[in-house]
Amino acid sequence: MTTNVMILGAGFGGLELASALSERLSGEVEVTLVDQHDAFVFGYSKLEILFGHQTTDQVRIPYRGITRPGVEFRQERVLTIDPATRHVVTDVAAYDPDVIVVALGADYDLAATPGFVEGGFEYYSVAGAERLRDELDVFGGGRVLLAVLSIPFKCPPAPYEAMLLLHDRLVARGLRDASELHVVTPQRAPVPVSPETSAALERAMAERGIAYTKRHRVYGIDPDARVAHFKDHDEPFDLFIGIPVHKVPDVLVEAGLTEDGWVKVDPRTLETPYPGVYALGDCAETGIPKAGTFAESDARVVADEIASTILGGGVHASGGTGLCFVEFGNGELGRVDVDFHARGGPTAPLLGPAPAYAAEKAEFGAVRRARWFGV
Ligand SMILES: Cc1cc2nc3c(=O)[nH]c(=O)nc-3n(C[C@H](O)[C@H](O)[C@H](O)COP(=O)(O)OP(=O)(O)OC[C@H]3O[C@@H](n4cnc5c(N)ncnc54)[C@H](O)[C@@H]3O)c2cc1C
Repeated sequence: MTTNVMILGAGFGGLELASALSERLSGEVEVTLVDQHDAFVFGYSKLEILFGHQTTDQVRIPYRGITRPGVEFRQERVLTIDPATRHVVTDVAAYDPDVIVVALGADYDLAATPGFVEGGFEYYSVAGAERLRDELDVFGGGRVLLAVLSIPFKCPPAPYEAMLLLHDRLVARGLRDASELHVVTPQRAPVPVSPETSAALERAMAERGIAYTKRHRVYGIDPDARVAHFKDHDEPFDLFIGIPVHKVPDVLVEAGLTEDGWVKVDPRTLETPYPGVYALGDCAETGIPKAGTFAESDARVVADEIASTILGGGVHASGGTGLCFVEFGNGELGRVDVDFHARGGPTAPLLGPAPAYAAEKAEFGAVRRARWFGV
């Protein structure tokens, strides 16, 4: 008898899990992979869109390319989940799978920051990256304030990557001398798990005259007066870029799967308190930062759990490992190999930055594209 596995969300984590189950449990599982969209976009491709290196069409990978045996993709929107009875309702059908894996990622709550919808820009969504790209094309120089509006947020290095690449863009357009760049974050360091990467990013910003304020928060902006509100002062801006407040998709709150804002799981197995219901990636609270590489590592944990339920015994991956490439601007990238569960505590050494890692990052994307989509 085959086991029906329903994966909700075909992002970084859902795609890796579908591939792993097809590879390891061929004939044992039937996987239904559901996503509201018709194509996948790597998170880092939003930087490509933002700086005009690639168009949206060039970075979209259509789900119709999924041809893995035992995996069926359906473009549907998940409306309700009853984890106790494992009943899922989408805008197209109702399902009663043996196993549910929730991989719905994180949503953005732009309205949580007063004035942001009216007067701010973001590049964390494809539409936001396109809008900010167009704004940068006509930007004539001035004060750019980039603020991380809450923790947790996806991809800890991404705010710094964007600011370093923006520096390059303004230099190329002859506007850097007419501009002031400032990054603000509530965090104590750019990439807390990697002191080396944090120091290198801080050094890169200092070398380029990019102001950096940590342990501070922007609570809202006044779009008319063009000032950002901090706790005890206001700061003027000409262009405000925010890393939006992140939240779990509403459908997961309504399903009763959340605690303290994110899906509650056993960090070892990624099973929720409901038997046969797992959660992975950005929507789950595992104590690990939100990034595609960790969603992928989570997928290996869940694949092991499902495999051991079906086949018995087996090994259990521990998650929390990943490979990140960090853009430093000027054609240079760093490579960070992260292991949150290393003996003696988390490790995340930095290699580079150096131009050579650009090819490795391209290879990272190409390998996943081939594995998940066969192209
Ligand atoms: C600018 C930027 C740069 C980044 N750079 C990197 C990087 O270099 N390396 C890295 O590892 N990570 C990076 N990330 C982070 C990475 O993109 C995410 O952490 C990763 O995609 C999380 O994977 P996930 O599977 O948990 O969720 P996602 O990949 O977000 O997938 C969730 C899926 O669920 C679907 N969904 C949501 N709600 C519903 C619903 N109700 N019904 C049906 N489908 C639904 C969504 O359409 C989506 O496809 C970056 C992110 C950004 C914004």
